[in-house]
Amino acid sequence: MAIIDISVNIKPGFPVWPGHPEIRFTPIQKIGNDSKANVTQIELGAHSGTHLDAPLHFLKDGCDVTGIDLEILIGPALLIEVSDVQVVDAALLDKLSIPKNTERLLIKTSNSQLWSENNTMFHKDFVAISDSGAKWIVEHGIRLVGVDYLSVAPYGNTGPTHYTLLQAGIVPVEGLNFDGVKEGRYHLICLPIKLEGCEGAPARAVLIDLDR
Ligand SMILES: [Zn+2]
Repeated sequence: MAIIDISVNIKPGFPVWPGHPEIRFTPIQKIGNDSKANVTQIELGAHSGTHLDAPLHFLKDGCDVTGIDLEILIGPALLIEVSDVQVVDAALLDKLSIPKNTERLLIKTSNSQLWSENNTMFHKDFVAISDSGAKWIVEHGIRLVGVDYLSVAPYGNTGPTHYTLLQAGIVPVEGLNFDGVKEGRYHLICLPIKLEGCEGAPARAVLIDLDR
């Protein structure tokens, strides 16, 4: 059984959404004369690195990240690769012959390469899901959709895709890294930190390759 880590390393200098807090790690105790232990204070936005969005992100009365059904976050997943596209829309998804019983859809795009470049810059021109793509996902019974940059929705137009997915109870997982991962069927485990009252939370996400 091979376990593939599809999470990014959260660290100071890692790109964050414009306007969100920078990631900061401050050592408040260091092993030495004054302390027996190392202790770090962390500062970060709820949408840092690999993370998921709860309905509360865009819906006033939506549930927070602790309310997301764990059964959605663990189970069979399909990873599809779409290189050379700028947007994932309904027309593209129609062409991909995604099996009808797919509940967790992970979309690998050219975004994944951005992580390996060790880039500290936020890229506004990342590949995202359009509202028509989000509607396609709703209509096809998908419960979780994973993307490889910091938002499911295009920069400058984040509303429609998020509303469509979150209103339908679909969990968007953002900031995944599929670099070097082949398309195919896997078992996904994606568990967010249990931050009560928060509309999103960093998560550790792994794929289990059941064929190996
Ligand atoms: Zn988010």
